[in-house]
Amino acid sequence: MSFIAARLSRIQPSATIGVNTKAGELKRAGRDVIGLAAGEPDFDTPAHIVRAAEKAMAEGKTRYAPAAGIIELREAICAKLERDNELVYTPDQITVGCGGKQTIFNALMASLDPGDEVVIPAPYWVSYTDITLLAEGTPVVVECPAARGFKITPDQLDKAITKKTKWLMLNSPNNPTGSGYTRQEIAGLAEVLMRHPHVWVMTDDMYEFITYDDYAFSTIAQVEPALFDRTLTLNGLSKAYCMTGWRVGYAAGPIELIKAMNKIQTQSTTSTSTISQWAAVTALNGEHGFIAEHNKIFKERRDLVISMLGQAKGIECLTPEGAFYVYPSCAGCIGKTTPEGKKIASDEDFVTYLLDAEGVACVHGAAFGLSPYFRISFATSTELLEEASRRIQRACAALS
Ligand code: GLU
Repeated sequence: MSFIAARLSRIQPSATIGVNTKAGELKRAGRDVIGLAAGEPDFDTPAHIVRAAEKAMAEGKTRYAPAAGIIELREAICAKLERDNELVYTPDQITVGCGGKQTIFNALMASLDPGDEVVIPAPYWVSYTDITLLAEGTPVVVECPAARGFKITPDQLDKAITKKTKWLMLNSPNNPTGSGYTRQEIAGLAEVLMRHPHVWVMTDDMYEFITYDDYAFSTIAQVEPALFDRTLTLNGLSKAYCMTGWRVGYAAGPIELIKAMNKIQTQSTTSTSTISQWAAVTALNGEHGFIAEHNKIFKERRDLVISMLGQAKGIECLTPEGAFYVYPSCAGCIGKTTPEGKKIASDEDFVTYLLDAEGVACVHGAAFGLSPYFRISFATSTELLEEASRRIQRACAALS
């Protein structure tokens, strides 16, 4: 019998972290690898945020923080939610964690009993299902095809709900597809939830600010205020503020749940770094002009990748409304054979081929629950994206 707990056998290591780590190792070993796996902006954290952390350290703000987060940050989060999302929360309805991921972890650990179900539209961010499993819940995965913009429909949601359903996980703009729900689409889902009062909704709004064209972000408790008391609104500083390594995520919701999440935090990390929290106060309360500048660059890169992938044989790709991912289908490459004589039987084979043949690292669609696709993060330099897209075109053309 293994020394390792049985619960670990139910989950996979995070594929996004895994591919990213592998690409880094290959690069360090001297291989010419372009990493398109990392879901993080390549921009530096804005200087005024870095200065706020330096100031906090110089002022001795280096001690333990309350498990819920420092009050100044929770107040800044309340102000942000009111300003941007028309949601009125008080600081005791806010909890701050080590990134969005720990916040989701705390929420699911705090709310799931064995067998409780979580409805997760696929493609989903890799960690939703595995955190659910760690918390002894049951993921109910609902496949949302490209033909419907990778979005769950009210009818699909209605059919997925059972007596055991505890949560619906929503994520818009979505990781890995970049697709964004319109206000009307969210209203359609809210209408279903109104008919199932035992179901709560966890909305991961991490990509709120990274949007393109005329897409307008909205979040479910704003669209349907009657759901406010059973909504957990999640967000974080990682993406829009380029603070992935600072580890600041947060959630706003009913006090009973927030208290339960804090209880877990007192027995795990205590809090995220106090210094990061002070930096986050400045980020949320400070000027936001850099976000539009970054989005302009992301949009150019999105358009570049979409147009170059359009010339790759066997690849088809939707144009995302937000985030910095595209989620192309590689269906046209499945069943083909590589120049080395290997058959491409799955999206995992396809991304392995891209890495081996051309040194391009992407994450396979199976990890996100919908195949045959792969995820490209375009949060990398334009030059590298051009080169990577050329390599993908070449790899696809070499298949027979
Ligand atoms: N959220 C990012 C991604 O999807 C960061 C890595 C992770 O935590 O999964 O790549």
